[in-house]
Amino acid sequence: MKNKLPAWNLSDLYSGIKDEKISQDMEKYKKLNEKLEKDYKGKISALSGEAFSQAMKIYEEIVVLGHFLGGFGYLNMCTQMNNKDATIFFQNISEKLTDYSKNSVFFSLEINQLSEEQIKKLLQNEKVANYKPWLDRLRLFKKYELSEEMESLLMEKSVTSSSAWVRLYDEYSAELKYVVDGKEYNDSEISKLTQDQNIELRHKAGREINRVSKENDNLFSFIYNMILKDKAIEDEKRGFKAPIDSQNLANNVEGEVVESLVASVTANYKNIAHRFYKLKAKWLGVEKLSYWDRNAPLPFEADKDYAWDEAVKIVLQAYQDFSPKLHEIALDFFDKNWIDVPVRNGKRSGAFAHPVSSHAHPYLFLNYTGKLRDVLTLAHELGHGCHMRLSGKQGELQDDTPLTLAEVASVFAESLTFKKLLETIDDDKLKLCLIAGKVNDMINTAIRQIAFHNFETRAHRERKLGEVSSEKFIAFWQEEMKESLGDYVEVNEDCEYIWSQVSHFYHLPFYVYAYSFADCVVNSLYSVYRGGKVENFADKYLHMLSETGVKKYDELLKPFGLDAKDEKFWNMGLGVISEYIDELERLDKKLRL
Ligand SMILES: [Zn+2]
Repeated sequence: MKNKLPAWNLSDLYSGIKDEKISQDMEKYKKLNEKLEKDYKGKISALSGEAFSQAMKIYEEIVVLGHFLGGFGYLNMCTQMNNKDATIFFQNISEKLTDYSKNSVFFSLEINQLSEEQIKKLLQNEKVANYKPWLDRLRLFKKYELSEEMESLLMEKSVTSSSAWVRLYDEYSAELKYVVDGKEYNDSEISKLTQDQNIELRHKAGREINRVSKENDNLFSFIYNMILKDKAIEDEKRGFKAPIDSQNLANNVEGEVVESLVASVTANYKNIAHRFYKLKAKWLGVEKLSYWDRNAPLPFEADKDYAWDEAVKIVLQAYQDFSPKLHEIALDFFDKNWIDVPVRNGKRSGAFAHPVSSHAHPYLFLNYTGKLRDVLTLAHELGHGCHMRLSGKQGELQDDTPLTLAEVASVFAESLTFKKLLETIDDDKLKLCLIAGKVNDMINTAIRQIAFHNFETRAHRERKLGEVSSEKFIAFWQEEMKESLGDYVEVNEDCEYIWSQVSHFYHLPFYVYAYSFADCVVNSLYSVYRGGKVENFADKYLHMLSETGVKKYDELLKPFGLDAKDEKFWNMGLGVISEYIDELERLDKKLRL
């Protein structure tokens, strides 16, 4: 990996932070926001279709400019977090964008005050009809909206209620220090230790996380109680029946479908998670895994280094084999320098794809170190990137993919590449390690998130009866962990307080099931693809990706003969994981591990 790795070229957006076009665009952004307010505030209900389409055009232009400016500021900073000019530049851009956009807040609120009749009339205009998916999404919440007075009171009070509790949790958690063998660690460092090759170190790190959580249990239990109650109050006012309902609406998914997902995953705990941990305990040479061994590397972990060029070749070949069209879309990222590849001093960690704007193109951010995992990460982020280019065709306001489908293209691309990688490997031990790593990830996404979901469902239900005690939270947590992890994982006092570490419980109640939902959807799709029974699968698949911002998931899945309301649907997705475990059992026998 000595040869120089490619860096991205952001000049498609601006030539640098001193580019004059930046202040020009910012000025334009400010003016357009002012214009929208001046010309349309208080007047939306009286607009003709034609006039309304003009307002929508201005609004769209504002969003495009905001994405260019904000996107550039963010990307420019990510590769040089140690450069003060870059961080201040981003901060200034963000503050200005927030400040100027206040003028246009009225816009969506006023649209939601229109009656169905008025909307219908507006939609008769052809130009307005183009925005129908955006309008539909906006109006999903109409039924649950309160009077303008109440809405603005709730918004103002949120600073001292719900968001205040989340902020307290975040700021307090960020300051926590963990000590192992006299050495101090922060949050992300200590969780890395729980994946160390050294079993002693892993357990010490895990116990320390639990100890620190216990030490702060009074505060965390109190905050969580407040968040549960705060949500219950607002839900009641808005008319949501169950605590999960508001999030289901945001995800545009019916309650029964989520229930069927939860039931199917819970029924598969044994066949998937328990079976895998039994194997893993054997590989680690223990009777039972400690709770903190779940993500441990295997003692015979084998890895192989992949030069960047080799990784690109494998990924592109996987794309090409699936669909030459997808391959062509992917090529641009390499040919036009849309990817930032190397690890650098001051560069943020992790990987992501950033859409920027449908009027430009996405950028991919990597920290490539040549490991197998990195090859799959390239496939993953490139999948997001291609998806963004396809859905971008719907325009700036309608290229947003809901959470439940946002990982389809990325995980699908990962599966294709994973298969390709397996084909290139002859060594059975390496193959076993590769599959075990994949299954470990899949269990953490598809299975574990549902155990989390079951925990929070019980917590919200219990809160209705009054304040929930710390002992109750622990009992719910331990029961859900035991059930999902099975007999080969020790669930004892070393992990009692870990529920308080799941930040999604605080940030966005009922968010976690979407991870499992998304994983099962993509696995079902992959399973259909492998089955080979759907004609022109690849073309249909690309078409589906182009419509994820404008159509609902059930409609999108129809061409593949998939129906999420059918119980068998979820089992099909889970079956993909189960088959990998079959393969692991086969390899385990063959290798006599
Ligand atoms: Zn992703």
